[in-house]
Formats: sequence, structure tokens, C-alpha cells
Amino acid sequence: MFWVRDKANQKSFIKEDEIFKLLEETKSPSRSKVRDIIQKSLSKERLDPGEVATLLNVEDDETLEEIFEGARTLKKNIYGNRIVLFAPLYIGNKCINDCEYCGFRSSNREIFRNTLSFEQLEKEVKALEDKGHKRLILVYGEHPDYNADFIAKTVETVYKTKNKNGEIRRVNINAAPQTIDDYKKIKEMGIGTFQIFQETYYYQTYKKVHPKGPKSSYIWRLYGLDRAIAAGIDDVGIGALFGLYDYKFEVMGLIYHTIHFEERFGFGPHTISFPRMEPALNTPLSEQPPYLVNDNEFKKIVAILRLAVPYTGLILTAREPSHIRNEILKLGVSQIDAGSNIGIGAYSTEDQEAYKKSQFTLGDQRSLDAVINELAIEGYLPSFCTACYRMGRTGEHFMEFAIPGFVKRFCTPNAILTLLEYVQDYAPENTRVSIEKRIKEELKDMDEGPIKDKLLERIDLVKAGKR
Ligand code: SAM
Ligand code: SF4
Repeated sequence: MFWVRDKANQKSFIKEDEIFKLLEETKSPSRSKVRDIIQKSLSKERLDPGEVATLLNVEDDETLEEIFEGARTLKKNIYGNRIVLFAPLYIGNKCINDCEYCGFRSSNREIFRNTLSFEQLEKEVKALEDKGHKRLILVYGEHPDYNADFIAKTVETVYKTKNKNGEIRRVNINAAPQTIDDYKKIKEMGIGTFQIFQETYYYQTYKKVHPKGPKSSYIWRLYGLDRAIAAGIDDVGIGALFGLYDYKFEVMGLIYHTIHFEERFGFGPHTISFPRMEPALNTPLSEQPPYLVNDNEFKKIVAILRLAVPYTGLILTAREPSHIRNEILKLGVSQIDAGSNIGIGAYSTEDQEAYKKSQFTLGDQRSLDAVINELAIEGYLPSFCTACYRMGRTGEHFMEFAIPGFVKRFCTPNAILTLLEYVQDYAPENTRVSIEKRIKEELKDMDEGPIKDKLLERIDLVKAGKR
């Protein structure tokens, strides 16, 4: 048995032998078995590792189509048409790690190193607010300059930078794993989710692609979000970088990680991310990922994650081109970024050299408005809602899942109101037309009664300028 141990001599919850065994034992599953598993998921139960392995072993197109259909149904039944929108904001690309796939790796001499000053940060936030954004994820390399005090100060700066119509209402973080005391400093500033991606759950590959720096410790990273929860941060986001190792193993890793949280804390991760590796400047591994995931496999990964952990938010980023995003969205994604620019300082300066400060290349470069317009035309309900966070409720996606009627009572009306704010404050004519049409359709589908009456009242208030 292969185990890795942390300082307390605690076994890792990633059981490699068990994962390989399950993937072997469940090969060539019957269609009826797969159907039973899909049914279990549709009755809102988290799947067990053996069931997830069974779904991963489906290879024929017809049964795969049933998995996709199951994921689409689950999304529709539980989460409805809403898609939550956010933008990434890169704070600095200095890094002491040397992750072989990342443009920010310390040995990359072709990248311009840069950290936003607090003045530049304000400019970036204003530029994002001017476009209509309400939710950001702040992204940092790992460097002594980006310690917890610095991260906390950047969060504080974002919240206090307000524009005529705009304010950022929820700040999430993607940064290096911290100590419990450091997480506490960051939590105090009122963050939403803290994200850490394990990149690969396969220990040997992990060690190989993280040759130096703090990130070379698999265990420090694996238990990074346990420490966040111990510090009081309930919304944590996990993820794997697809392309480093076999996708089936990585999906199993994400499931084991989820079960570990459930067992230890009584709740699972708030979100799961599944980035595919993208080419990064002067970074050979990223040009040729050792376990390239094709588009069909990617669809399969997302659909299986949707079915496996029905209560968790799924995040799809603009690493993917728009045509892939449109297809994957239907399979159960709950959040996407839009109008993203990952060059440091690039939102406010239109810096022509920004790509030389970027971590990798973005596949979807549409503006926020273009994404909103297309989502509305496709029948989605783009949402800037941050009500759960502001009401002090953690686990917004879990609420949507677990509390009967929550989506109808809170999420859909709030999505409509935040979208209407966008129409009033930012949208050009063509988007205005498609959003108003979309809102009318949503209202038509709503049951008559006090919830709808209250919503109609509030719509009038937003139209009159109240926010
Ligand atoms: N430096 C911190 C860390 O590594 O956890 C946080 C920020 S890092 C810039 C955010 C994530 O970007 C990483 O966790 C990794 O999954 C992803 N990433 C790195 N290189 C990538 C690439 N070439 N393509 C796609 N995603 C990449
Ligand atoms: Fe640094 Fe994160 Fe990039 Fe690794 S993934 S080189 S830690 S920024």
C-alpha cells in the first residue's frame, strides 16, 4: 500500500491503491448499472467512489449521452437557468515555486514580474466595476511579498473601492496555502471562497512537476483547505489541473477530497474547478500536456462531477474557448468568469505587453457584455447575486441544493434583480433588449403569489434607481 504521511504521521485520504482497484473493477459497466447510478444522483445523493469509477469507465457514445442527459436534468432541476458571473483579478506574478506548467514559475526568465501597487489595484477594481462586475477572484503567485497581511490589505482595498454605480460585493481568493493564523487574518477582511487546486492528486506526478519551493510538499497543499476551515473559512474550493495525469484518477481524487471534508467537517467543498492546461509563455510542459484531455473527455469529466457531487458549485473558466463553454455550461456549471483579462494591470491600462505578464493564454476573450447577451439569448439567467454572502450565509450552492424552494424563493428573484441593475447601469441597447426579453420569460414561468408580487415591487424600485 502506498501512503504519504504528514507531520502528524496522518495518512493521506487519497488512497491510490483503492482508486486504481476501483477503476479496474468497474470496467465495461452495463447500461442498467449506469442508469441506476444516474438515478441515485438525480435523487440528490452524492455518489460513492465505486459509482464514480463506474461512470468514468463508460466509453460508448450512447451510454455517455445518458450521462450527459442526467447531468443536464440535474442542473435544470436543482439550479435552474442561473449562471453566476465573476472576473479574475491577478494581483502579482512573483513566485518562488517552479511548477513546470505555469508561466509564473520561478525559472521562467521571459515573463515580466510585476505586482499591482494599491493605487493600480484601485484602478483595476474601478475598471471592473465600470463594466458591471460584482464578484472577483483575486489571484496571487506564491511569494514572501504576498503574505497574509498583504493579501488581507488587497481584499480590504477591493471592498472599499467604489464607483458611481459599482461596488465589488464578494471577493474570493486563489492563493498559496496558509497557516491557520494567516487564514484568520484574511478571513477577517470578509472573503468569500478560498480556492486551492491540488493540481494532481497523483503523488509521483505531483512531486515531479513541483520540483522546488513550498508547493513541492504534497501534504501541505492537500491539507491546505482543512486549515482554512479550521480558521473559520467555510467556503472552500478544490480543483485539479487536467493534463498532468490520467483524468479518471484526478476525478477520483476530487471525490476523495470531497468525502474527506464531509467526514471531517460535515460539509463538502463549496466549489470544484477543473481547468485544462493551457499554453503558457516559454513553458514547454504547458504546450504538450502529458495527459491531454480532449473535448469529449472534458465533457465527460464535467458531467460526471455534476452527478457525483450534486450539491457543489462547478466553475468553468475562460481558459476554454466560447464554443466549448457553451456546450459545457448545460452540463451543470454554476459559475463562469466573463470579460476576463489575466494580464497584470491589464483591465485599466490596456497594456499591449500584458500577455508577457500572464500565466497562460485565455480561450474566451469575449467582453462581459457579449457573454451576458449570449447567455440571455440562449435562455440562461446571468446573475450577479451575492445575497448569501452579504446575509452571512456560507455555502450558497449548498443552500440552493439542500433547501426545498430556495432557488425559487431567493436565487431566481435575486438573479433577476441583479441583472436588471446591470441593464439600468451598464448594458448597451442590444443587450438590454435580450435581457428584458429573458426577464419577461422568467416572470412568465414564475408561480403567481407573494414571491412574485414582492419581486415585481422590487423591479419597480430598481427601475426607479434603488440598488
Ligand atoms: N499560486 C497559487 C497556486 O499555485 O496555488 C495560486 C494562483 S495559480 C496562478 C492558480 C491556478 O492556475 C493553479 O492552481 C493552476 O491550477 C492554474 N494554472 C497554472 N498554470 C496553468 C496553465 N498553464 N493552464 C491552465 N491553468 C494553469
Ligand atoms: Fe507559482 Fe502558482 Fe504558478 Fe505554481 S501555479 S508557479 S505556485 S503562480
